[in-house]
Amino acid sequence: MGEESTLLAASGEPALEHDVRVVDPDTLDEVAADAIGEIWIASPSVAQGYWGRTQETTATFGARLAGSSATYLRTGDLGSLRGGHLFVTGRLKDLIILQGRNFYPHDIELAAERSHPNLRPGYSAAFCVGAERGEQLALALEVSRHHASEDDDTIFHAVRTELASSVGVVPTEIVLLRQNTIPRTSSGKIQRGACRAAFLDGSLDVVGRWSGAPAGGSAESSGPVEEFLRAWVRDELQVEPSELRPETPLADIGLDSLAATRLAVALEGRFGRRVELGELWGQPTVGALARHLASAPVSAPDSSSGVERRERPDVVVDRVTNVSQWPEYRALRQRLDLLDAQDIESPFFQVHEGVTGSHAVIRGRRVVNFANYNYLGLSGDPDVTRAAQDAVARWGSSVSASRVVSGERPVHAALEQELAHFLGVDDALVYIGGHPANVSTISHLFNRDDVILCDALMHNSAVQGAEFSGARRLTFPHNDWRALDAMLQRVRGQHRRALVLIEGVYSADGDIPDLKRFIEVKDRHAAMLMVDEAHSLGVLGATGRGLAEHAGVDPRAVDIWMGTLSKSLASCGGYIAGASALVEYLKYTSPGFVYSVGIPPSNAAAALASLRKLIAEPQRVATLRKRAAYFLARCREEGLDTGASVDTPVIPVIVGDSLRATRLAATLLAAGVNVQPMVAPAVANRAARLRFFVASTHTEQELSQTVRLLVAAMHQLDAGPSVSESAARDLSSTVPA
Ligand code: PMP
Repeated sequence: MGEESTLLAASGEPALEHDVRVVDPDTLDEVAADAIGEIWIASPSVAQGYWGRTQETTATFGARLAGSSATYLRTGDLGSLRGGHLFVTGRLKDLIILQGRNFYPHDIELAAERSHPNLRPGYSAAFCVGAERGEQLALALEVSRHHASEDDDTIFHAVRTELASSVGVVPTEIVLLRQNTIPRTSSGKIQRGACRAAFLDGSLDVVGRWSGAPAGGSAESSGPVEEFLRAWVRDELQVEPSELRPETPLADIGLDSLAATRLAVALEGRFGRRVELGELWGQPTVGALARHLASAPVSAPDSSSGVERRERPDVVVDRVTNVSQWPEYRALRQRLDLLDAQDIESPFFQVHEGVTGSHAVIRGRRVVNFANYNYLGLSGDPDVTRAAQDAVARWGSSVSASRVVSGERPVHAALEQELAHFLGVDDALVYIGGHPANVSTISHLFNRDDVILCDALMHNSAVQGAEFSGARRLTFPHNDWRALDAMLQRVRGQHRRALVLIEGVYSADGDIPDLKRFIEVKDRHAAMLMVDEAHSLGVLGATGRGLAEHAGVDPRAVDIWMGTLSKSLASCGGYIAGASALVEYLKYTSPGFVYSVGIPPSNAAAALASLRKLIAEPQRVATLRKRAAYFLARCREEGLDTGASVDTPVIPVIVGDSLRATRLAATLLAAGVNVQPMVAPAVANRAARLRFFVASTHTEQELSQTVRLLVAAMHQLDAGPSVSESAARDLSSTVPA
């Protein structure tokens, strides 16, 4: 990669003589702190322009930022501002444009280099090569002296996987170069242009080569694999088959790392052949992927037994048993190191001292807290605490066995009966957690003959349950019951059972599905509907009974209700509620219940006490709604982007960049407000956000103060390359008590 060099060392304050900006060359907006863009400079020492060339002078010397009158020199250099220092990473002309998207070679080179220890940091070049089907990405990477050619395939695999998951591109060509042979300037900078020229004329000192370009020939149909691929892409990624041409790049159809994992699982389910993610990334286009998959042996379904026979998996043998060297671990480490390098305190595994609710004590300091789901303030409530304590005194701290075999205590049945009654259904069953409740129930009730249709924003636990079931899994666009209807119309006839999975309140966006419509659709197609009420129990409806109450619907119209005890009910555990037969069947057969310990009596008692309080004090729910509406209104007044959030205490503030979200969270914590960032890959980078979970116990003053602090932190972040410690201290002086 082009060696980083410090051009100007600013002192942490805006430079006095030189005004340096880093700008998106397309939008002409300044990029977020630390991001790469074109370097623009205004300085008394910059020349006035080109003699007699007015047009070029205006374009190069008279550049203006959107909404500003100051003029800058466009240097044509790419770089970033970090901690007051400007780093130059290359030239704008090196920018890589693939299918209309801009990629900075520096990002690609860094990602490639970190993917394998045999690659030399700082000795690589990413560039475009013209190909029949448009520009394609090539990489030249120096390997260390100790590299042996039998490791080539492992390196190619690691580079492709890392680039696909962290940058979102897949190279078409990779060459490995002998140490110290990549073209460089006398000062040691990599010459990408020279490297590209040498690549094209074959004069690089290549010791290993991988090419994903099609070996020529037509892209004729590859039979059942291609047909399967078309159907999968149509259903899963909502791409019309007519738009799916062999030359369509995989990235263009939305095959990101999550979708690729799902595709690999689906391929295995259909053809009985394990497909490594690296194999998928190794194919740049739809046609190449279909040809690749069709060229490997696949077994036909054995219709007599209903079981598909599996060929020996076609895997790349990886002999590395030390996890610290696995590419996926290294990618994680890299992300964590980035926080350190940016001097940002990690938002993860923060230790809270004392009860956590609308307030928390972190490192001895009391902060206003928006990072948990104690929606009704019942965790820490004296009655709930006492109930848990009494239960421990009476039944001990654990039931020490599955409830099926000697783990049952009276408090379990009491909780389940009262919960079912509260929800308006026959019966309920409590598992040890919300996550296992989803995984075990879904994977147990459905199998490979079935189809499960998930909302695109469905929680991981339900998605995992669907995957583990082996059923065909399809995703419909978020909250879009019309799209669901169309999908069921298409696929229902091919499957034994169909299940639709939705949530009561979505915890990323804070929005609510139209339950009546979903019920109509599922009834029309004889499908079952399961609703995850993790964030809607105790939250929606006048008395906190959840989505059915909110929608004015008979709860029995939904086939499976699921919820957790860990949020409004201030405990730990998960439940499934519904018809007696469903609950009885699960009680005797669901592996996550039958083969796992019953929840501790203290947890059951805490949840039961919370439920009784929730019933006795419905004003808690009303207050929660009032506070949430107030916070949302304040955010909107300030022009903050709260996405689709409406009528729920889950209120995201979308800030448009993962690093920015992380920085804002750190700044707010310093100012006395704890809120968690939600960043890529959990959401798209441009949708990175701070997620505020409002509780009934927040005061209006705290909520309004928080909005003020957030707005101030945003302004500070926008004003300078980084928010300094003193700025954080300034903010903290206004912390609510
Ligand atoms: N479903 C949803 C929608 C959730 O948000 C969560 C947890 N945040 C769970 C299930 C898992 O619940 P638990 O934390 O109780 O395991």
